[in-house]
Amino acid sequence: MKIPFATFKPMHDEIRKDLDQAYNKVIDSNYFIQGKECELFEKEFADYCNAKYCVGVATGLDALYLILRAMNIGNGDEVIVPSNTYIATALAVSYCGATPIFVEPELETYNINPALIEEKITDQTKAIIAVHLQGRPADMDAVNEIAKKHNLYVIEDAAQAHGTEYKGQKVGTLSDAAGFSFYPGKNLGALGDGGAVVTNNKEIADKVRALGNYGSDYKYHHIYKGTNSRLDEIQSAFLRCKLPHLDKWNEYRRNVANKYFEGIKNPLIKLPLKDSEDYRHIYHVFVIRCAKRDELEKYLNENGIGTVKHYPIPMHLQEAYKDLNIKEGSLPIAEEISKTVLSIPMYYGMTDEEVNYVIDKLNAFK
Ligand SMILES: *Cc1c(COP(=O)(O)O)cnc(C)c1O
Repeated sequence: MKIPFATFKPMHDEIRKDLDQAYNKVIDSNYFIQGKECELFEKEFADYCNAKYCVGVATGLDALYLILRAMNIGNGDEVIVPSNTYIATALAVSYCGATPIFVEPELETYNINPALIEEKITDQTKAIIAVHLQGRPADMDAVNEIAKKHNLYVIEDAAQAHGTEYKGQKVGTLSDAAGFSFYPGKNLGALGDGGAVVTNNKEIADKVRALGNYGSDYKYHHIYKGTNSRLDEIQSAFLRCKLPHLDKWNEYRRNVANKYFEGIKNPLIKLPLKDSEDYRHIYHVFVIRCAKRDELEKYLNENGIGTVKHYPIPMHLQEAYKDLNIKEGSLPIAEEISKTVLSIPMYYGMTDEEVNYVIDKLNAFK
């Protein structure tokens, strides 16, 4: 049996007609940038998140970068980010000229450990980026309390968390502003790159919109040295087809996760923390840990099961960040995660037969 790590096929087969129609509608409209589809998607995604504002941008990385710029964060400033996340979180900080300061996650949740944030706060600290990694919400109450005490901005990196809920509230409105990615592999993915900023703060929304449009507030009038980062009409139209299905697709993933939780019984394999009422997970990925990770990966791949490591090299040990001069051993939890994690197949449309095959193979691993 061959089981991919992920596939879009069941999702796209289900809405194929809508996607075809969307594509034709955009061609016929003669508008490809800054038209009706983007405007409508922004409204629909803001409503979905129960937020006042949504601004479409080109990528998830840009969403974070533009939020930081809108907060006037730049040279000489420090921004706290988790030591275990996709590198885009830190790159957004670097792009605006500030320095990412890594704080270790909790091994159980993979999310930033609020108890370790305060010791990293200095006079230069301007913001904390909390990442809802893997689709599990970070502990936003704890993060917001620290930020309030030290007068810092809070940003959510919600690139893996479309529809994730924390204490009954959708992520995206649990901070000053949130960055979403619509990279195809995310739970809400375009058929290309895309991203959005979600916020209840009008000033941030307006500034992000201007910054992503060459710093322009109206045509040929430029108030900032901005960039070009916009969500195009085709991607907006595709995203509008998908958004109404997102909750159902997320629920499907939660069911697959529950089967994994019930079925995987192998003392060599550590399962992630199950979601709960207060921490509603959307299982963007299902990450297990194993001391013999590389052996396990080889074994699964040989049995036709696709896997990915999220992520194999922590950011502080990447060549790109050697200027930060953070030695191996100084962020042991991020390092432990990089050596032991393995993501197993998780996608909408995964059949019981496929799920059971993965479970059986995992249980047979010695
Ligand atoms: C995907 C991702 C990003 C970046 O999104 P892009 O759209 O690929 O630029 C940022 N942060 C996290 C946690 C991500 O998973």
